[in-house]
Amino acid sequence: MTIQKAGIIGAGTMGNGIAQACAVTGIPVVMVDINDAAVARGITTVSGSLDRLVKKEKMTAEQKAKAMALIQGSTKQGDLKSCDIVIEAATENLELKLKLLKDVEALLGPDVILATNTSSISITKLAAASGRADKFIGMHFFNPVPMMALVELIRGLQTSDATHAAVEALAKQLGKTPITVKNNPGFVVNRILCPMINEAIFVLAEGLATAEDIDAGMKLGCNHPIGPLALADMIGLDTMLAVMEVFYDGFNDSKYRPAPLLKEMVAAGYLGRKTGRGFYNYS
Ligand code: NAD
Repeated sequence: MTIQKAGIIGAGTMGNGIAQACAVTGIPVVMVDINDAAVARGITTVSGSLDRLVKKEKMTAEQKAKAMALIQGSTKQGDLKSCDIVIEAATENLELKLKLLKDVEALLGPDVILATNTSSISITKLAAASGRADKFIGMHFFNPVPMMALVELIRGLQTSDATHAAVEALAKQLGKTPITVKNNPGFVVNRILCPMINEAIFVLAEGLATAEDIDAGMKLGCNHPIGPLALADMIGLDTMLAVMEVFYDGFNDSKYRPAPLLKEMVAAGYLGRKTGRGFYNYS
C-alpha cells in the first residue's frame, strides 16, 4: 500500500513538523486541531520554517508555495476521511488519545492505517483501543521534525507486516531513516538516553564532578554534541522525571529509579531552560 494522502491530528510542535515533512516531499496533508487558532498557529509555523529555508536558498519561493498548497488545516475530524494514514500527534494524555482514536476510527475506511507519535504511552494499549490493532503502529518523530533524520517505528503486538512496510516506506519518502522496535517503555532512543542523563544527575549529586566537567566529559570523551545536564535542561526536568517514572513503573526495576536530585530540582521549580534555571542558570 502506498500513502497518497496523510492526516495529522494535532497542529502543535510535532504535528506541524510532520505536516511540513509531508508537504515538502509532495504528500498532501490534512492537519486537524481543536480550534481555528491552533490550526492557524500550526500553519504559520510551517510557513515561517519554510521562509527560513527560502532565505538560506535551500528551497525556492515557488517550492514553498507548492508545499503550503498541499497543507489543508481543519477543525473537523471528518476531513480525515480521504487519507490513507492518520498520524495522531495530539497532547500526551492517555484519556485524550483513547477518545480521539475511538472517534477517528469510526470515521475511517477499513484499510486506513492509524499511527501515533506518542513518546511514552504503550503502542499495544493504544492499538487495542483503536479498533484496528493490525493497522496500528507507533511513528515516533524527533523534535524538530524537519531537521531530525530519525523515525522510530514501534510495532505493537498485533501490528501487521503490511502496516509496518507501508509506514517504513512513508518514513523513507519523507527523507527520514526509520528504525524498527518492539513496543516497550521508551522504545530505543529514550530508553538509552534518559537513563544516561539520570546517571549524570547521580554523578553530580555524589559530588564527583561539577556540572560543567560532567558535560565536558561526555562532549569531549564521547563526541556527544551536548552534555547530558545541558540536554536535561533543554528537555525539561519535569519531562525527564516523568520519563524515568514511566521506566521505573514499566520495568519494575530499581536501575531506572529517578535520581533524588532530579526530584528535588523539579519540586523546587527548577525545570531547566523553560524556567530560567536547571543545572545551569539561564537568567
Ligand atoms: P503540543 O502541545 O505542541 O501540541 C499538541 C497539539 O494537540 C495542540 O495543538 C493541541 O491543541 C492539540 N490537540 C489537543 N487535543 C486535540 C484533539 N482532541 N484533537 C486535535 N488536536 C488536539 O505537543 P507536541 O510536543 O507536538 O506533542 C504531540 C505528541 O508528540 C505527544 O504525544 C508527544 O509525546 C509526542 N512527541 C513530542 C516530542 C517533543 O519533543 N515535543 C517528541 C516526540 C514525540
